[in-house]
Amino acid sequence: TYTPTLDHQLLERLRGALRGELVEPGDPEYDEARAVYNAMIDRRPALVVRAVDAGDVMATVDFARDQGLALAVRGGSHSVPGYGTCDGGVVLDLARMRGIRVDPGARRAWVEGGCTWADVNHATHAFGLATTGGIVSTTGVGGLTTGGGMGHLARRCGLACDNLLSVDLVTADGAFVTCTDDRNADLMWAVRGGGGNFGVVTSFSYRLHPIADVLGGPTFFPLDAEVLRRYRELVAEGDERLGALLVVGLGPPLPFLPERWHGRPLCGVVACWSGPEEEDDRIRDRLAALGPVVGRHLERMPYPVINTLFDDLVPAGLFHYWKGSFTRGLPDGAIDAFVEYGPATPSVQSVTVVFPVDGACHRVGPEDTAFSYRDADFSIALSPTLTTRADCEAQQDWVRAFHRALVPHAMEGGYVNFMDADDQERVRANYRANYARLTELKRRHDPGNLFRLNHNIAP
Ligand code: FAD
Repeated sequence: TYTPTLDHQLLERLRGALRGELVEPGDPEYDEARAVYNAMIDRRPALVVRAVDAGDVMATVDFARDQGLALAVRGGSHSVPGYGTCDGGVVLDLARMRGIRVDPGARRAWVEGGCTWADVNHATHAFGLATTGGIVSTTGVGGLTTGGGMGHLARRCGLACDNLLSVDLVTADGAFVTCTDDRNADLMWAVRGGGGNFGVVTSFSYRLHPIADVLGGPTFFPLDAEVLRRYRELVAEGDERLGALLVVGLGPPLPFLPERWHGRPLCGVVACWSGPEEEDDRIRDRLAALGPVVGRHLERMPYPVINTLFDDLVPAGLFHYWKGSFTRGLPDGAIDAFVEYGPATPSVQSVTVVFPVDGACHRVGPEDTAFSYRDADFSIALSPTLTTRADCEAQQDWVRAFHRALVPHAMEGGYVNFMDADDQERVRANYRANYARLTELKRRHDPGNLFRLNHNIAP
C-alpha cells in the first residue's frame, strides 16, 4: 500500500540492494518505524529504511535522489522539529548502526552514525576515557555532533564537533568520502556545525580524554536573581574542569528534595567536576556558597552515570517545543527574564538549561568550524516539555514570550540544535560569517538540496 508515485521497479531494486529492512505503510511495524521522539510530530513517510551499513545508506540516498523524494535522516531521533521523519518521502533510520571501536592507546573511538551517547559512554568508559556528548544519554551522536554538541565536558574538552577527527560521509551523489582536516577538509569543516546539510555520516571518529569518574549531580536553590548572579561569578572563575549547567524549573519529585519544594520554582547547578577527588569537598562548598541549598545530590560517580541523570525526566513520547540563544556573559536582563518566566514553567519536565560554552570551546576560532559561536559564554535552551497535547498552545505562548524577553540580552542567531521548525528564517543568522562559505559548499556538494530536512542551508 505504498504511495502509487513510487516506481515499483526502483523500489524492488532498492529492496534487493539492502541488507537492512524496508518498512512500508501497512506493515505491522510501520507506526513504530515512523514515530520520532517528539510526540508533537506525526508524519507518514512512504518508506522507512532501517540501514545496517554504509552500503544501505548509499543505496537509500541514490533511491531518494533518483525518485525526487524527500529524505529524512534519523540518528537518535531527538530532533525537536522532527527532521527525522517526513510525509510521503523516505526515512533513513540509522538506529541499527551502533558499532563502536575504541583504540585506548590512541585515545580515539570510531562510532557508527546511529549511536546514542549511552552507547559511546559505555564503550569508552571501559577504558577510563570519555568525550563531550549531550546531557541526556538517549540523544543521538549524529544530530548532536553535526550541529556542534555541548554537554557536561564542553568547558574542558570542547564541543562534540571539536573532538571529531574524521567522518565517513555519504554525499548527495551517493559517494562515500572519508573526511579529515587533510582530506576533503571543506566537508570536514562543514560537518562541524553545519547539521545534516552535507550528507549522512556513517561513522564519526572522536578524540577521547582520560576522564573516568566525576563529582556529579545537582545542587538546588530557590529561584532568585542573587543566586543566578553568584552562578555567573562561579563560571567566570574559569575552572574548565567544572561542568556547571544552570537549570531553572519546578522542583522535581526526587527523594533528596524536601516535599515542600516539589513543583515550586527552583534553580540548580548540575555539576560535573572532572578534577581530582581530593578537591571534591572544596567544590561542594563552593556550590553551597551560591545560596540557600534546598536539596542536593552531589556524589562521585562514573562519567556515564551523570549522562543519565536527566533521562527519566524526558523519555520519548513527550510534547516538545524549543527555542535557543547564546549570550556573552550572563547579562542582568537575562537573569531577570529567568526569574520572571521561570515560575510559569509549564511542567516539571520543562527545564530551562544554560550551558557554559567557554574554556576549550573558546580555543577554536569562529571560522575554524561551521559552528561559529566561539565568543559566546552561555547557550540557553528553553525546552518546555509536556506529557499531553492539551496544553501545547499555552506552552508555546510561554516559550515565545520567554524567548522575546531574552532577545535584547542575547547574541544574534542561536544554536541550530535548540531551534524549532518555525526558526528556519534564523538559519542565516545562526551561521553568521560562515553562512557564505556554507552556501558555496552546499552548492558544490548538494546542488539539488537533497538534504533539506534540517535547519537548511539553501544551495
Ligand atoms: P535525529 O532526529 O535523529 O536527527 C536530527 C538531524 O540530525 C537529522 O535530521 C539530520 O539532519 C541530522 N543527523 C542525525 N544523524 C545524522 C548522521 N549520522 N549524519 C548526518 N546527519 C545526521 N544538544 C546539545 O548540544 N547538548 C545537549 O545536551 C542536548 N540535550 C538534548 C536533550 C534532549 C532530550 C533533546 C530532545 C535534545 C537535546 N539536544 C542537545 C539537542 C540535540 O543536539 C538535537 O536534537 C539533535 O538534532 C539530536 O540528534 P539525534 O541524532 O538524536 O536526532
